[in-house]
Amino acid sequence: MLQISFCGKLGAGLISPFCDKLSLMLQSKLFTKTLREAPKDEEALNAKLLLRAGFVDKLMAGVYTFLPLGLRVLNKIETVIREEMNAIGGQEVLMPALQPKENWEATGRWNSFEALYKTTSRFGGEYALGPTHEEIIVPLGKKFIFSYKDLPFAAYQIQTKFRDEKRPKGGLLRGREFKMKDLYSFHTDPEDLLKYYAKALAAYKKIFKRLGLKALVVEASGGTFSKYSHEFQVLSPGGEDLIYVCSKCDFAKNKEIVDEAFVRAAEAGKGSCPNCGGKVTAENGIEVGNIFQLNTKYSDPFALKYKDEKGEEKIVYMGCYGIGVSRLLGTIAEIYNDEKGLVWPKPVAPFAVHLLELNGASAKKIYAELTKAGIEVLYDDRKISAGAKLNDSDLLGIPYRIIVSPKTGARVEFKERSKKTAKLVNPKQLVKLVRP
Ligand code: ATP
Ligand code: MG
Repeated sequence: MLQISFCGKLGAGLISPFCDKLSLMLQSKLFTKTLREAPKDEEALNAKLLLRAGFVDKLMAGVYTFLPLGLRVLNKIETVIREEMNAIGGQEVLMPALQPKENWEATGRWNSFEALYKTTSRFGGEYALGPTHEEIIVPLGKKFIFSYKDLPFAAYQIQTKFRDEKRPKGGLLRGREFKMKDLYSFHTDPEDLLKYYAKALAAYKKIFKRLGLKALVVEASGGTFSKYSHEFQVLSPGGEDLIYVCSKCDFAKNKEIVDEAFVRAAEAGKGSCPNCGGKVTAENGIEVGNIFQLNTKYSDPFALKYKDEKGEEKIVYMGCYGIGVSRLLGTIAEIYNDEKGLVWPKPVAPFAVHLLELNGASAKKIYAELTKAGIEVLYDDRKISAGAKLNDSDLLGIPYRIIVSPKTGARVEFKERSKKTAKLVNPKQLVKLVRP
């Protein structure tokens, strides 16, 4: 992002030596390459695509490096999430991944959280690698919450989580190390929590919509602390959850909370929706987010209290709201692709334009004009065959492809990645065509 604004400010149609030397906007300088085939041990479609296109690298099962192209997408996803979290008053923090055992003992989760990574210091002492942050944010809140005047508030982070998952097979969908956005809200009473919960739910809907995803709001188990939680599920064959969805209304329930009679009715065919009598079917879903009314589950063990107007001590009510940030990268790849490769939705695409010069032509001038107009361009200036460039372009999935070649004379070929046909256009039209 920084590179782009820096380059964009230069004007006069000049490509700065900085861009030439360092920017990954020149594909010849991009240190990563596409792969002819996905690694044999990778089963998930999202990982196969992202690995082949050079967006991520796999270090080991469930652990990935985000390469320059993948990190650009991840950053765009994070920007959308940040904007919507800030819009509902979320205050951003960054909490540690390395956490003291005592905090996890206080909630009883040192032994009960199955996927908890535990580590020891050579100087003594045991630590957890944070899979979630209630154990950290509640004691943090305790340092700043004294009276009703200090409430409500909400704090969030976008941070790396660690979970010792049993079968990390879904590529980016289930990592052992992954990025999550976690928001925690603090309230004087359950009513205030409910009000904020509704706001967060609306913000979540906005986020997924902006990312180009159709996420269903699904009733799911609330664990031991509230009746239900709400999951945000993107229907996809690659999802490991099973969701009962009504074809007519917005009824959707996770399989984990329906009873046998419900399953039998749904399997029998027509008309089993408890809301509208519509047809209910079981679909695979990817859980991209999950929101909970924690109530006092975590404020109790840490005695997180405040003094009300009468000076009486009361317990704080809490909500928690998670989004799988790196899982979203995988989800978008899982949904937006075709037989040739990725097809990024514009709001998260690593670049807006993929500019290709073929067979000895030069696209330098167009590159300068587009970047000057503030458009994000990946410029394929490599001296390789036209076929190889075109294949790479389809695999990378950047929304607009522009081809400069001797064949098309003064005009250039313009094609949207999501469409079948290309057209020839006057280069002067380009900025208008690709501007969001
Ligand atoms: P799941 O049911 O998929 O195991 P969870 O219910 O344990 O997830 P939460 O603790 O609610 O997950 O975490 C918030 C969000 O973080 C989830 O909705 C999901 O999108 C994401 N997430 C959870 N576990 C992982 C993982 N191992 N890899 C990537 N993302 C994850
Ligand atoms: Mg969940």
